[in-house]
Amino acid sequence: MAAFVPPAGGRLATDAPRRCIAAARRPVVYVSPAGLQMKAPPEGAGSVAPVTVSRSGVEVHHFAPAVEALENEGAYAMMARAADIAKTPGPLVMHLEIGQPSYPTPPHIVAAAVASLSDGETKYSPPAGIPALRSAIAAHVSSTRGVDVHPEQVVVGPGAKPGLLLALLALVRAPGDVVIIPDPGFPSYAAAVTLAGGVPVRVPVGPGGFDAAELRRVALGACGRCVAIVVNSPGNPTGCVIDRAGCEAIAAVATEADAFVVSDEIYSGLVYEGKPGDAPFTSMLSLPGMVSRTVLVDGFSKTFSMTGWRLGYAVCPPYLADRMALLLVHSVGCTATFVQRGGVAALTSLANGEDAALQGMRTDYRRRRDAVVAGLNAIEGVTADVPGGAFYAWADVRAYGELGFTSAELAALLLEEGRVAVLPGTDFGPGGEGYLRLSYVGEDEEVLEGVARIKSVLDRLRASG
Ligand code: PMP
Repeated sequence: MAAFVPPAGGRLATDAPRRCIAAARRPVVYVSPAGLQMKAPPEGAGSVAPVTVSRSGVEVHHFAPAVEALENEGAYAMMARAADIAKTPGPLVMHLEIGQPSYPTPPHIVAAAVASLSDGETKYSPPAGIPALRSAIAAHVSSTRGVDVHPEQVVVGPGAKPGLLLALLALVRAPGDVVIIPDPGFPSYAAAVTLAGGVPVRVPVGPGGFDAAELRRVALGACGRCVAIVVNSPGNPTGCVIDRAGCEAIAAVATEADAFVVSDEIYSGLVYEGKPGDAPFTSMLSLPGMVSRTVLVDGFSKTFSMTGWRLGYAVCPPYLADRMALLLVHSVGCTATFVQRGGVAALTSLANGEDAALQGMRTDYRRRRDAVVAGLNAIEGVTADVPGGAFYAWADVRAYGELGFTSAELAALLLEEGRVAVLPGTDFGPGGEGYLRLSYVGEDEEVLEGVARIKSVLDRLRASG
């Protein structure tokens, strides 16, 4: 057995075991100060990642710190747990965990993609997107955000998620640069910042947007190293729409700190006007002076019920768009042309006012939103505000925290006892403790049955506590 000196604390340097494999041509094992066995995998085992083996024989492979820090998105983990529970005897599991519209993609969008495939559009295409889609997106963003956007500012990618990641890869200049993210907020923000080599700093966000004083303190306290502020309105998980004053406050801090704003507007097509608590949507791009320091990220997944198509885009200054296009060249290459043709059809019909299918979805979501919020507020110890957008309700269950339950424990209990899947607020950051996120994208019956089950589990809990 070959010996090598483990680094302090028993952690392996990333390439040390590889060197050892090359030198020794057989497994390398040492025992760390904590009593854990560490070994390089045997040659031909299909892996060169170093491994830690616990006394009970569990093997943990090690990767670069940013990759090791990755965790699954809570919604996917909960979906897997709900699928396991569904296999056990009992009533059907109600799914209120995932933000995936249940509607089929409108048929004219599907037809455009099918026609593209039939026409033989099956080859590589320009990395930043086909000209027809970049133009359609530029026109759509110009009309919805009230600013002049040109096709060279548009970068198309397979989903909004790549837009976020590539923007942050481009914006984080040096390891340790600070990116402010909302707490609670979409889990991929922290992951993307970390992968880009930056430091995600969470700033509390409420119905009016960021805690303005804290935002300013963190942005200016980073001594010129705050490179971006991630904004998400309408927001996941709360459904809150940040009003114009809240957006202006963010713009002022970004300008003062000379930082970019990465504005995730994926839910901008799902804003419900006309109900108490609703705020009209303001895009960060539309504020004076913000075109030069905003990366707007949007996509087709939510508004057009196209989650599985993988189609999204970023709009930013051309010099940044060019860099993001290079990142596309060296990662995904390009986005499938037939998928982009579906996107062109979606935006063209919208521009022509043929949006009955979308309006139908929005009407359904709004009806469900109102029913879910009413149902939640009827449960003792639970309150929920009327969210202005997206398709999530954010249930305040802090009263159950006082009974000793964390939101993760409550979510687990609701799944096991009530067979209803919801997400604990902490899946979105520490600021989510004391909250549950409910997605109301399912059919009315599923959503209402889900809320009824939450009520019966929580009522039982209170009675027994
Ligand atoms: N941003 C937010 C806030 C989201 O909730 C989601 C999807 N859950 C995304 C981005 C990713 O969207 P896409 O499917 O286009 O990658």
